[in-house]
Amino acid sequence: MMHTSYSVEQIVNILDCKLIKGNESTIISVLSFDSRKLSEPESTIFFALKGRRDGHNYIADAYKSGVRNFVVSEFPTHIEIYKKANFFIVNNVIEALHKLVATHRRKYDYPVIGVTGSNGKTITKEWLYQLLAMDENIIRSPKSYNSQIGVPLSVWNLDSRHTLAIIEAGISLPGEMERLEYIIRPDIGILTNIGLAHSEGFKNLEEKISEKLALFKDAEIFIYNPKYLQSFTGEVPGRKHFTWGWNGGETLHIVDSSLVDDGRSQQLTALFKGKIIEACIPFGDAASIENAICCWATLLALGYDPQIVSSRLSRLQPVSMRLELKDGLNNCTLIDDSYSLDLSSLAIALNFLNQQNQHTTRTLVLSDIPGTGLDPALLYKQASEIIKANGVDRLIGIGTEIQKYGDLFAMEKQFFNDTSALLAAIDDLSIHDETVLLKGARIFEFERISKALVKKVHETVMEINLSALEANLNYYRSLLNPGVKITTMVKAFSYGSGSYEIANLLQFNKVDYLAVAIADEGVALRQAGITLPIMVLNPDVDGYQTMIEHDLQPEIYSIRVLNDFTAILRRHNKTGYNIHLKLDTGMHRLGFMEEELPALLNALINNDAIKVTSVFSHLTSSEDPESDLFTDQQIAIFERMTASLENALQYPFIKHISNTSAITRRRDAQFDMVRLGIGLYGVDSVYQGVESPLKTVATLKTCISQIKDLSAGDTVGYNRRGVMKADGRVATVKIGYADGYSRKQGNGAGKMLVNGQVVPTIGNICMDMCMIDISGVDAREGDEVIVFNDRVTVYDLARNQDTIPYEILTGISQRVKRVYFYE
Ligand SMILES: *Cc1c(COP(=O)(O)O)cnc(C)c1O
Repeated sequence: MMHTSYSVEQIVNILDCKLIKGNESTIISVLSFDSRKLSEPESTIFFALKGRRDGHNYIADAYKSGVRNFVVSEFPTHIEIYKKANFFIVNNVIEALHKLVATHRRKYDYPVIGVTGSNGKTITKEWLYQLLAMDENIIRSPKSYNSQIGVPLSVWNLDSRHTLAIIEAGISLPGEMERLEYIIRPDIGILTNIGLAHSEGFKNLEEKISEKLALFKDAEIFIYNPKYLQSFTGEVPGRKHFTWGWNGGETLHIVDSSLVDDGRSQQLTALFKGKIIEACIPFGDAASIENAICCWATLLALGYDPQIVSSRLSRLQPVSMRLELKDGLNNCTLIDDSYSLDLSSLAIALNFLNQQNQHTTRTLVLSDIPGTGLDPALLYKQASEIIKANGVDRLIGIGTEIQKYGDLFAMEKQFFNDTSALLAAIDDLSIHDETVLLKGARIFEFERISKALVKKVHETVMEINLSALEANLNYYRSLLNPGVKITTMVKAFSYGSGSYEIANLLQFNKVDYLAVAIADEGVALRQAGITLPIMVLNPDVDGYQTMIEHDLQPEIYSIRVLNDFTAILRRHNKTGYNIHLKLDTGMHRLGFMEEELPALLNALINNDAIKVTSVFSHLTSSEDPESDLFTDQQIAIFERMTASLENALQYPFIKHISNTSAITRRRDAQFDMVRLGIGLYGVDSVYQGVESPLKTVATLKTCISQIKDLSAGDTVGYNRRGVMKADGRVATVKIGYADGYSRKQGNGAGKMLVNGQVVPTIGNICMDMCMIDISGVDAREGDEVIVFNDRVTVYDLARNQDTIPYEILTGISQRVKRVYFYE
């Protein structure tokens, strides 16, 4: 990846821009937009992009970390402090980025495959890689890097050692594909599919299709399923076409697909050039079948012999683009990224490792890195540099190749010839109290190591998508007025979603405060290495001592609490301790009422033990338009009370009143800070029933223990409440009311998803299990069952229980394991 390099002069020529030259000359080989993620600062060029946050504000940070090259659209103030830096002055930074990378792209004339579509892009790209890697030196997009920033990062990695590039492109707004096309300029175009929902930012399906097709404007050959272009009236791009599908008349016409005896694989039969050809793929779900056919078509279009293609398709491996965070044995945390390995994905995984603060020791288990033509000495040198930059304390190397370059790694290290050798010695390695990243090439089967190190999980799990959570945070940030700070609510085990796993991510994303309900929650975060200021909303006397020891800041809501806390501070000789004053503007829960203000002011003045860091109140009904007058009144009372406090205290403090729905609905009430709660977890009742900009964070999953064929009239469960109306099948699944799945979901109220189909519960919910009616659904014992996700939602469950999503999320019991992943 770090093979690409340019001199300062070359960059000036390409960008055709003004340069303010510093007194250090460097070779530029790494692109960066994020001053928190720098692995080789000396050779980095930093693009000050204007997105949600203005990259120009992070120039100082990046410079401090050693970055010496900056592309900017505004002249930096205090240029004199950046003596060593080069500034490339352009009109538009993202356009400059695109121009640089597009120019780079044009240096290579080997084929570039461009992949787009609503779903399946990443899988198709990874499978093409698996199918072609034995013949070509392939450069491909890391993970699902397909955006206006991801595509440049991917294309930048093209260099002369490669013989083929596979780049994926994703868009969400009109106009974006034109820019990606300019950078990728694919020779071979693949459209995986088109989702019929015209969600996204397009007027209608036609506009969405025509936008996606813009990628193939100049393609030599375009590979697609005509079914997806039915409602498209324009001209299909590409000089040649290769089509596939079930309808008939396609270049690759699928005539049959049937389940093989093993119960999982699919045998596909197709008509191609007047002959019947076959392929067997080791997957049975509809999406995998479609992606595999898309790959089949691509290899045939490239001129491969049908028999060779079939034999390769039968060996397709599952693809996982997720980094999973799991609880390990011996108090370890495991980051499992054991599906593929190259330098780019290693850098991404190490960055994630570096964000984890819960243990002081960070260990990397790394296999040989499959070469892509790069001289191994250089490859391992580059790997060792990224590893060093990300604070790895111990390396466990697996494979004969990495051992040869063992000297490059300046840290505690051990090597094993293969995975079995490591497993045989695992007890002697004393792996405990550390964060362990598993990063191995497919053939090393690191899933065996993962199995050995992970705690056995109960098969009902709540999956937490950390990337979705990050996206939701960014969404709410985009609604904030300039300079407004953000507190994220991680009370009640982060609304049921987890503790340090979430807090680490929030800390990395530089939120300003965390808020917890009780002192113990704050202590747990401190013990996991969280250094952000933490507000405790509901402190009690027993916890004051602990709070002071762990630097936690209390909410002070009455004179009694103020006096008690002050007394403890005096005993510890503390002065100026940060506290947060809670005002009651109408909730009538905790807080000072307006008539108590004089007494409060009296108690605050001359109290040097505390410092009022912030003053806040809570809205009763910010989500409800019918209560807007009451909300207005709360805001007015808040303004009056904070004005008196400001007057009396004579120093500034932070004012805040908005929770999630107020951020969305009341831009006028942001004051100096907002408190983001449930929206972070993907739920905001403002978006209920309409297309939501939020991403679903939590998915609750269980699985089938047993399946029964029953006859009409048979009854199911306690008190025979479930009655079979006709002959059918019932599955018992491993979730019950002790897990937080309420009895109110019984007897058909609750729905679950089995292999993509919605099915109802039948009979009463039991303590640890319940039954679902799967008549007519293709399902087997052991199959996964979804209790809620983005299709069966927490709103649906809440409605059945006559409650709100908050109670559903926080009610999932602690014995349901949380599993975290990052896409
Ligand atoms: C829980 C809570 C919030 C967050 O509310 P959401 O509706 O989840 O955004 C904000 N402020 C206080 C005081 C809270 O207790």
